Amino acid sequence: MKAKKTNETQELNTHGKFETNAIRTQLERSQFLEHSSPMYLTSSFVFEDAEDMRASFAEEKDRNVYSRYSNPNSSEFIEKVCQMEGAEDGFAFASGMAAVFSTLAALLNSGDHILSARSIFGSTHALLTNFFPKWNISHTYFKIDELDELEASITPQTKVIYAETPTNPGVDILDLEVLGKIAKKHDLILVIDNCFASPYLQQPIKFGADLVIHSGTKLMDGQGRVLAGITVGNADLIDKIYRFSRITGPSLSPFNAWVLSKSLETLAVRVDRHCENALKLAEFLENHEKINWVRYPFLKSHPKYEIAKKQMKAGGCVVAFEVKGGLKAGQNFFDSIKLLSLSANLGDSRSIVTHPASTTHSKLSKEERAETGITDGMVRVSVGLEHIDDIVADIAQALALA
Ligand SMILES: *Cc1c(COP(=O)(O)O)cnc(C)c1O
Repeated sequence: MKAKKTNETQELNTHGKFETNAIRTQLERSQFLEHSSPMYLTSSFVFEDAEDMRASFAEEKDRNVYSRYSNPNSSEFIEKVCQMEGAEDGFAFASGMAAVFSTLAALLNSGDHILSARSIFGSTHALLTNFFPKWNISHTYFKIDELDELEASITPQTKVIYAETPTNPGVDILDLEVLGKIAKKHDLILVIDNCFASPYLQQPIKFGADLVIHSGTKLMDGQGRVLAGITVGNADLIDKIYRFSRITGPSLSPFNAWVLSKSLETLAVRVDRHCENALKLAEFLENHEKINWVRYPFLKSHPKYEIAKKQMKAGGCVVAFEVKGGLKAGQNFFDSIKLLSLSANLGDSRSIVTHPASTTHSKLSKEERAETGITDGMVRVSVGLEHIDDIVADIAQALALA
């Protein structure tokens, strides 16, 4: 819940365009007239008197009570993301997965069914497969290229359509407009994990999403420091998520909220450079003799280039490609990388190379991997903010040895 006020001191100011709002949306200054928002490291808030205490607990007042419910730093972070995504309200979580779990758990009942894209984040896949069946919440996966047949999979129990675009790690694109129309026609809640695009590149609510989830850990923080998550969207749905979460306790810490709100001030400039570097790397790889294929949403060769252009401002920070020669060549490539980090994170200022088949997606069977387009020689690069010449040079020398 975004706009909790404490003793009239916390009005949130909003102005004009994306970059301006990201910088100028700020808690009202305290008596110290600080320029940058202070950090409110406090677990609870005080009451003026007995009546104030009663009225606050009765929710007759819009104010902070306890930081598991709301905190000024979280409110500032949520307000910024709501403006970026065009959302009515939101709730901030300790991690992206806390946001995914709490959002679905708050909205679904035993017996309900989720219709989800097959290519989703590994832990979200594990949540749907290993844990939700305990509460009799089932799911069906659909393939990205079979949106035409999606309606046939809707049952009377279906409550939610769930998807990510661009997908991880295959960088495939789903048509948000098509998903939005199907969700509306069947009165389903469309939930989009928008983490790979960031709110700067893509706003799913414009295309009919009811809720948008982010792992703040990725491009939002952008410097690999904190874990965070957020869900924004329709105010009635957020109210249900808020009521579930303030009891179950997955709330974001004020410290991490402060870090993230500061990071959002530079989101636009950072993501612009990520995309510029990623496109240059993708173009370099496209003509490379050691590569079978390269996928990046804003390359004309991407099968969904037109859809990407329709719904995204630029192609994002992730480039996927396949090294010729399968697993052995892939391993040689990774062992030869010097500058880039071998890590599983993404959206960091540091460029990162990942081998999905042996790491993030190793728990899937070979058939399941094939279904989501993950081959043994596939490399995922999260293109960072180093000089593009250095990024390309490192990948070029590793390919020469692959
Ligand atoms: C990382 C990620 C998550 C989970 O976020 P955490 O902050 O690591 O819990 C969810 N969805 C996508 C697409 C991600 O990349």
